Amino acid sequence: MTERSLASELPIEAVVFDWGGTLTPWHTVDTLAIWMAYAVVYDPDGAQALATRLRDAEETAWAAGRDQHVAATLDGVLRAAGVDPDQARHEAALAAYELAWEPHTWTDPHTLPLLLALRERGLRVGVLSNTIWSRDYHERVFARDGVLDYIDGAVYSSEIAYVKPHPEAFTAALEAVGVRDPTRAVFVGDRLFDDVYGAGSVGMRTVFVPHSSIPDHQRGHGCRRARTRRRPHRHRRMARWRSRQGVRSDTAPRGTAQTCAGVVPG
Ligand SMILES: [Mg+2]
Repeated sequence: MTERSLASELPIEAVVFDWGGTLTPWHTVDTLAIWMAYAVVYDPDGAQALATRLRDAEETAWAAGRDQHVAATLDGVLRAAGVDPDQARHEAALAAYELAWEPHTWTDPHTLPLLLALRERGLRVGVLSNTIWSRDYHERVFARDGVLDYIDGAVYSSEIAYVKPHPEAFTAALEAVGVRDPTRAVFVGDRLFDDVYGAGSVGMRTVFVPHSSIPDHQRGHGCRRARTRRRPHRHRRMARWRSRQGVRSDTAPRGTAQTCAGVVPG
């Protein structure tokens, strides 16, 4: 029996899910309209211009994630658009923004019975999401939909240095669910490059959920090599995240250039 086939016989310890388009049904969202909800509260007189700047800043952040696999935060997007999130009016604007997003964040009704079934089988459940949103926001969404208590570990890219498909994002997710051997975990996602290629590149088993209408410009770069050059400030962010999670820093993965093993974004 080969080493690879032996690994495939080992029992699974955890299943880690992508969020958007996987645990939630895919929605095509008008992000300019969403940002208008924020802008009309934050700056009623300049709302249209502000919403456009916010939409553009968010697109720039996602482009950096797509091209360089670097993570971004909501605060970073706001500041890039000239918004001061420390202003008192930000809180009311943020509430309006979250309300505008609400119809698009509902958890798929199949998720709860699935998570329960996995846990009944002794499997741990994880989440790894490319997101600019905070853990607090994601957890409020999961709590609203009654699934938060059934998630054993979650990694939101807004808390770390890199986004999927960077290996460090997946290694952080494995740490969050307490899996040391990547072959003992399954990743489930709706994007061939970010999810399937990324998880497979660190040795995880993968499940592709092809239900999302992902725009061509969001599909990643196929077999382009992942950019994994180590950058001190990003590794300090990873170290802080690991410290908060109680994860030993000596488990930090080493960035290694990946090649795309037969995965071609559709
Ligand atoms: Mg997704």
